[in-house]
Amino acid sequence: MKPGYEAVIGLEVHVQLLTKSKMFCACRNEYGGVPNAHTCPVCLGLPGALPVLNKEAVRMAIALGLSLGARIQPKSIFYRKQYFYPDLPKGYQITQGPVAVVEEGRVTIAGDAEVRGSAIPVGIRIERAHLEEDAGKSNHELSDKATYVDLNRAGVPLLEIVGGPDLRSADEAYGYLKALHRLVVFLGICDGSMEEGSFRCDANVSVRLVGNDTFGTRVEVKNLNSFRNVKLAIEHETSRQIELLEKGETFTQETRGWDADKGETRSQRTKEAAMDYRFFPEPDLPALIITAEEISEVEKTLPELPEARRDRIVQEYGLTEYEAGMLLQSRAFADYFEAVAKASNGKQAANWMLGEVSRTLNDTGRDIERLGLSEAHLAQLIQLVEAKTINLNTAKEAVFPAMLKGEGTPQQIVDQNGLAQVSDQVAIETLVQGVLRAHPEQLAQLKAGNEKLKGFFVGQVMKAGKGKVNPQLVNEILEATFAK
Ligand code: ADP
Ligand code: MG
Ligand code: ZN
Repeated sequence: MKPGYEAVIGLEVHVQLLTKSKMFCACRNEYGGVPNAHTCPVCLGLPGALPVLNKEAVRMAIALGLSLGARIQPKSIFYRKQYFYPDLPKGYQITQGPVAVVEEGRVTIAGDAEVRGSAIPVGIRIERAHLEEDAGKSNHELSDKATYVDLNRAGVPLLEIVGGPDLRSADEAYGYLKALHRLVVFLGICDGSMEEGSFRCDANVSVRLVGNDTFGTRVEVKNLNSFRNVKLAIEHETSRQIELLEKGETFTQETRGWDADKGETRSQRTKEAAMDYRFFPEPDLPALIITAEEISEVEKTLPELPEARRDRIVQEYGLTEYEAGMLLQSRAFADYFEAVAKASNGKQAANWMLGEVSRTLNDTGRDIERLGLSEAHLAQLIQLVEAKTINLNTAKEAVFPAMLKGEGTPQQIVDQNGLAQVSDQVAIETLVQGVLRAHPEQLAQLKAGNEKLKGFFVGQVMKAGKGKVNPQLVNEILEATFAK
């Protein structure tokens, strides 16, 4: 950021809810499938069809609201937002009117030290989150003569989460989006896929001179389909606006699209060309009334939230905030970690989860649910290392891969393959003597004062012992021998 300037950013996030059926009809809410297979008169907008509100979507909105410390509106109303587009069969989208089901919440993120002077946590306001329905999808790629429309997505429930203009850098926007993403995934209300579009984000960006308390002209950037693109697009857009201001130029409020290939934003429509949506209350749906009982019912089902869980994991297992944050990449991952940690050792369990387990998941493209390894077995492996039955190297190189291949429990694998660590004094001394005899030159150099060669001898003994000897004993015995 150019000195003297400050970015002001507010995100609008669309979260596709993981309900079984669509927002106002019984059609399956499912990504993909044969085009237009999941449709009915309601989501096709046929005359006379009547919408019926999905209660599950309402409960999910309440769950999010409670998790954001927001006010759950006892009464809110659905509105029609009219516009014409091929993938909007009714000619209007049902969304919420002036009041949303969720009002005034908050997400806490780490402040960007570069712009705020310190990384102390800052609260980012959530202005509101409202229920609405998704549109279908137009496919322009199937043919160069026609656009094909798939209405499987038409009527899928969405929560639009409107964030306050409280973010001050691309990094903060990134942190905020990650926090929201983690929250909806933890709550189990969204699958969080940015690729498939079930978690989408538009960024409102403006810049101003530091010390100014009025906002500059904002630009809404669309087409941000990954966390990385959100960050890149905001960085690019703030620089573009600052450059214009520096040149003494002004600009008007507009919508711009992010072109990831070119790495730039491009104008889509200006405010003057903005549509008049002719909002009016949806006559076919009653007001959405939420009682205190309904709210407390949902409250009972809430899981431990990511932030609270992170703090507890730090405390309970003696980990760093960073490690705990990494372990909370998903609820299943954190659950797996805690099961292993409880049955073994927190620090070691964290090391395995963020080391070998993560590597395996990356290599195989699987998620933790399909790792193919039970928590109990990983805990047993950690215990075998702790008890010095095997060393860490053998655990990683030999036992863990065999466990993944389904060759048995860690203990069975150790027994069947004779992997138990050699902790026998006499056996190791014999190995040491053999190694010393095989390397007279290095031994002479070490005796002449080249201490670095100690590592060489440790390595040679480990090798002679096929990696199975107790490294601590090898060290002790070597030291004792050299001291003679
Ligand atoms: P619209 O319907 O025009 O998009 P909304 O009120 O729904 O308006 O959304 C406005 C979004 O833009 C919010 O996320 C808000 O935080 C953000 N915003 C408002 N003013 C500014 C500004 N000057 N700079 C950056 N973001 C802004
Ligand atoms: Mg908007
Ligand atoms: Zn339908």
